[in-house]
Amino acid sequence: VNVFFRPIDKINSIIETYPKGIAGFTRYTQFLDTEPDIMDRAGAKDVARLAGDIEYRGVGFGYGGGRAVFAGLDLAVKAGETVAFVGPSGAGKTTICSLLPRFYEVACGAITIDGIDIRDMTLKSLRSNIGIVQQDVFLFAGTVRENIAYGRLGAGEAEVRDAARRARLDDVIASLPDGLDTVIGERGVKLSGGQKQRLAIARIFLKNPPILILDEATSALDTETERAIQQSLAELSEGRTTLVIAHRLATIANADRILVVDEGRIVESGTHAELIARKDGRYRNLQAAQTESGKTPPAAKVAC
Ligand code: ATP
Repeated sequence: VNVFFRPIDKINSIIETYPKGIAGFTRYTQFLDTEPDIMDRAGAKDVARLAGDIEYRGVGFGYGGGRAVFAGLDLAVKAGETVAFVGPSGAGKTTICSLLPRFYEVACGAITIDGIDIRDMTLKSLRSNIGIVQQDVFLFAGTVRENIAYGRLGAGEAEVRDAARRARLDDVIASLPDGLDTVIGERGVKLSGGQKQRLAIARIFLKNPPILILDEATSALDTETERAIQQSLAELSEGRTTLVIAHRLATIANADRILVVDEGRIVESGTHAELIARKDGRYRNLQAAQTESGKTPPAAKVAC
């Protein structure tokens, strides 16, 4: 279950009713900042750019009063470190990450960044420090320029172009009829899955947050596109604290640390080399299972 889609659902329903273009979108972002269920605490402070030292201490959480997804979760991620969460479906990987931008509120314990409880920060300033890349990219009806500049409203031409270049979107832009001013979306040019991913990456280069959450794509892109996007993501995560929600194991071998999550608990932690060397380890078994299921199945015997 991808909890990040919740705000996206909101975006989609609102965009349909708003006038097209950036003006409507600005109003929409104001709306998102006033989500009714999670609000700024009295006395919450605007934080400036954080270093990105993350700590979960005794964190407990369950959805809508249901059973706990986890209890007493402890986790520390150093500024600049890349940590990948792996584990079976429903283990809690996405949920752990969705608590950081406060899409949901912890029930017990606390999450701090640079030693500050995230509930003592304004939502706006907390979220301005976090970039999220997920597989379903949200584009609104408008120009490529507007869609990239959503990463930081008010960004200038040079900054937009620089972000596009770093996301390897510049060739795509050059091939579009009106370049950066090409209208995309329903009535405009349709972008491919890989192009949308690059646009999402360009947004985050522009936003330049110290913390990154990568919800790894499960949907297939062709191998070459996939490799190019992985390369851009690797560059994007340089110098940022990065949490990767890994659905496939192949792409996470370069993480500084891999955390195996099962039923809301971190059951193993180490580098790829360390974990793969562990006989009967969870990570090693997951790897083996995925390699096995990734094999081409034998052709069915069909009587003709
Ligand atoms: P996957 O690899 O399938 O994405 P995951 O490890 O990311 O799984 P989570 O999505 O964090 O796992 O789910 C953890 C638990 O919380 C699961 O039992 C799931 O059913 C439940 N859950 C997730 N999102 C919600 C939600 N929005 N409402 C209620 N329960 C949810």
